[in-house]
Amino acid sequence: MSKKKAIVIGAGIAGLGASVRLAVKGYDVSVYEKNDFFGGKLTSRNVNGFRFDYGPSIFTMPQNVTELFELAGKNPADYFEYTRLDPIFHYFYEDGTRIKGCSDTTKFAESVAENTLDSKETVLKYLDKVKEINELTEDVFINRSLHKFKNFLNKETVKGVLNFGKIDAFNTMNEVNEKTFDDPKMVQFFNRYATYNGSNPYEAPGTLNVIQHYEINRGAYLPKGGMQQISRSVYELAVELGVEFHFGKKVDKIETSKSKVEAIVVEGERREADLFMSNMDVYYLYNQLLPQAKRPSKVLDQPKSGSALVFYWGINKSFDELTVHNILFAKSMEEEYEAIFGQNNVCNDPTIYINITSKKCQGDAPEGGENWFTMINVPNNVGQDWDEIIARSRKNIIAKINRTLGTDIEPLIMAEEVMDPGRIDERYLSAFGSIYGNRFSSNFSAFFRHPNFSKEFKNLYFCGGTVHPGSSIPLSLKSAEIAVGMVKNV
Ligand SMILES: Cc1cc2nc3c(=O)[nH]c(=O)nc-3n(C[C@H](O)[C@H](O)[C@H](O)COP(=O)(O)OP(=O)(O)OC[C@H]3O[C@@H](n4cnc5c(N)ncnc54)[C@H](O)[C@@H]3O)c2cc1C
Repeated sequence: MSKKKAIVIGAGIAGLGASVRLAVKGYDVSVYEKNDFFGGKLTSRNVNGFRFDYGPSIFTMPQNVTELFELAGKNPADYFEYTRLDPIFHYFYEDGTRIKGCSDTTKFAESVAENTLDSKETVLKYLDKVKEINELTEDVFINRSLHKFKNFLNKETVKGVLNFGKIDAFNTMNEVNEKTFDDPKMVQFFNRYATYNGSNPYEAPGTLNVIQHYEINRGAYLPKGGMQQISRSVYELAVELGVEFHFGKKVDKIETSKSKVEAIVVEGERREADLFMSNMDVYYLYNQLLPQAKRPSKVLDQPKSGSALVFYWGINKSFDELTVHNILFAKSMEEEYEAIFGQNNVCNDPTIYINITSKKCQGDAPEGGENWFTMINVPNNVGQDWDEIIARSRKNIIAKINRTLGTDIEPLIMAEEVMDPGRIDERYLSAFGSIYGNRFSSNFSAFFRHPNFSKEFKNLYFCGGTVHPGSSIPLSLKSAEIAVGMVKNV
């Protein structure tokens, strides 16, 4: 009997994960990808001798990657190696305060106590609290579909409901953090995690303080060879399992009958299959590929997440005070978030994130130099004058780095590329250049992400950063696990 056929639209990390899982289930899998490279946002580029991870740089929950190799009966270490970072971050404030984001939570709490008004005990208690929130919510909100009633009939959900008061669902992240910490610097510190899914700490539910748990309690990691190794290793596994990739092939249309998807259309040609998995942005899927479907407006018209403005700078010097991940905080947190989410603009003193993989990955920069991925959070694209924002921000970012490091970095920039929301939209087909799909703008936002299956077409499934359970490398991989978990073995 010939194998059943599955088509995956998009070779982002979720599409790659789904292709591996479908191949393991016995499907004959073909992936159609608009770009001529795999990995989607999780990709890499070389610019004048400097290698840059072009999108994600913070990596938590490596088990979501390694389990793919185990599932395929392989030894993960033969494909993918990574190390736990210590310190995870160096933090810099304009008043000269420095905090070391040590991997050991006690040492991290001690660094906070030495440098701010908050005590070690306050920090450790907070970290225990976010760990507990994770224990109460992970099985209900992350590990399963939120859109299947049967998934609520279990002891984890009952436990979650009985402890609802403990998960801070009815306070914002900022309200919880203001109540917990005496020092505004620590409120700013923990509010920043809202931006990990492009949300605003003044509107995102306090439950999202759970993000801190994943990075601070469970640790952050760096793959050997940089972040690109995540997508490269999963791609290589997929190829080994017989998955067929078609690069440079944008899917233009999805043909349906009453209750089924029949085929995709690529460059005018129909491709039929038994099962279809979309890894693309659901907004574009419904608006462009599936206009004949019932449009899930409640989901598609939610406020979108923020975006990023990134300067990829090849720097002709190395800086001992910087580590792999670095944050230079804005002077005013209120002004920064109000500019992004209130005015769709960028303030003149934004929080700056600098990622330098060459600190650990030899060869990512020429001898004596460093590869700086320099990023600020920005609104998504609603037609702002991005040339003005880029020019102004570049000046402001350089001035702030110069104040912090006590040197002029501008003459040290040997290579440069820029990524902004317009380019993110164009490159990855992410609507409005929003990085994380819908943002968490209310208590119920988790329920307004698209399900991992179609209610209308029984052989259409969804994975990726714009659907349940959320956007990031681990959550996108989780979405693929949930989606393929609903598919029957063949
Ligand atoms: C600047 C930046 C920084 C980030 N930082 C982090 C971080 O530090 N940590 C973290 O965990 N996450 C981070 N993220 C988010 C992370 O990159 C995403 O959550 C994750 O990569 C999403 O993967 P995905 O497979 O869902 O989507 P994508 O990577 O967007 O993949 C979708 C794929 O579908 C393709 N496609 C779309 N439409 C079509 C079509 N019609 N036909 C064919 N192909 C199509 C696209 O070309 C793309 O390759 C960051 C993202 C960016 C941009």
